[in-house]
Amino acid sequence: MNPVELIRKKRDGQPLNSDELEFLITGYVRGKIPDYQVSSFLMSVYFQGMTPEETATLTQIMRDSGTVLNFSSIKEFKIDKHSTGGVGDKVSLILAPLIASAGLVVPMISGRALAHTGGTLDKLESIPGFRTDLNNAQLKDQLQKIGVALVGQTGNLCPADKKIYALRDATATVSALPLITASILSKKMAEGIDALVLDVKAGNGAIFKEKQKAWELADILVKTAEHFNLKTTAIITSMEQPLGNAVGNWLETKEAIDTLKGEGPGDLVEITLCLGAQMLVLGKLAENINQGKQLLQEKLNDGTAYEKFLQIVEMQGGDCSVIEHPSAYPSSKHFLEINCEKNGYVSHIDCREIGVISMALGAGRTSVTDSVDYTSGIILNKKVGDQIIAGESMAVAFSNKQELLAKNEIRLKNAFNIDDEKVTPEPLIYSLIDAGGERKWLSDL
Ligand code: URA
Repeated sequence: MNPVELIRKKRDGQPLNSDELEFLITGYVRGKIPDYQVSSFLMSVYFQGMTPEETATLTQIMRDSGTVLNFSSIKEFKIDKHSTGGVGDKVSLILAPLIASAGLVVPMISGRALAHTGGTLDKLESIPGFRTDLNNAQLKDQLQKIGVALVGQTGNLCPADKKIYALRDATATVSALPLITASILSKKMAEGIDALVLDVKAGNGAIFKEKQKAWELADILVKTAEHFNLKTTAIITSMEQPLGNAVGNWLETKEAIDTLKGEGPGDLVEITLCLGAQMLVLGKLAENINQGKQLLQEKLNDGTAYEKFLQIVEMQGGDCSVIEHPSAYPSSKHFLEINCEKNGYVSHIDCREIGVISMALGAGRTSVTDSVDYTSGIILNKKVGDQIIAGESMAVAFSNKQELLAKNEIRLKNAFNIDDEKVTPEPLIYSLIDAGGERKWLSDL
């Protein structure tokens, strides 16, 4: 087979069969096909798309490019959640212990910060000593002992995705629907889970701004997962403004701890309970979303979800004292209040810009070898719809480098729009797409 012929075929809109896709992907992972040819193939997929069969085949080839975990000796129902990425999205830190405290097993494999969106692993690693690099035996052992682990994509799990994702990032092909689908599902299917709940974000801080595009992605994800008999639900949620009030690694971890103690901000609690309730529905611990939410709210109120989080931190080598006494955590050396200049209502927050600024303050990396400043980031004191008076704080920026605060002050101020009229914020949860592609609206949940 000749890579040029396959690129030409895809470029001209013809589907590739499984031998042809296998040749390209496996050849790339083994270093036999160069970056420039796979880049060209990815761009052809970006413009020509893929048939549902091609998307499923690509997913399978990527899943099988490395180890596929098998937890069949663990009898409990195994489930995970995946978000397509957002700003201030610390849901995984809360959801994993919460769902495990309700009785399901959660082998959660997460990623690092990408572009303007934060990464669960970076947030967890802000806890001194916390290890996310468990090997497969350690992961299994922890799941058997406490029913949950929060780890990274270690060793040989989906090497094709690791390599292709980096290339997509460098070739502006991240947002191709079949490529996102294969990337997410190959990793999740390699986790050995029985079911999956997807948080597909739509809005200014998400991969897709348009809800229509997020729906399309959710549809393809659910249909492709169904092809592999993986029970999957996608919930489409808003990323028009950051989730919760904290953006930045330790700041978000602290907000997750507060939420586990029953003191979280309303939007974060609502999304977490909705995603979690659907996990309980798939795992047959709840009959419907409302019942699931009630059950989970009890786990937050009675402290069992928080206790489970402490168990995770302890088993993964983290320092539990900073979880129990977050005020003892060293704060960043410098901070800057961003005050409002006029009376009015917050009408819009540029979510993507908040993510970019948080990264620029030190919360993100520009290359994989960069270290992360765990204490830097932003606390939002006002959200869309809130009233504000001149001189009041809209946000506080934190960094260990004073010059970064000064450099980003105007940008952060400009990320907030203040209007005279009160604005109603977007709904947080738009709709849910179930197995069979049935779309349910927020009002029906
Ligand atoms: N998350 C992933 O894991 N892959 C993508 O392509 C997009 C979001």
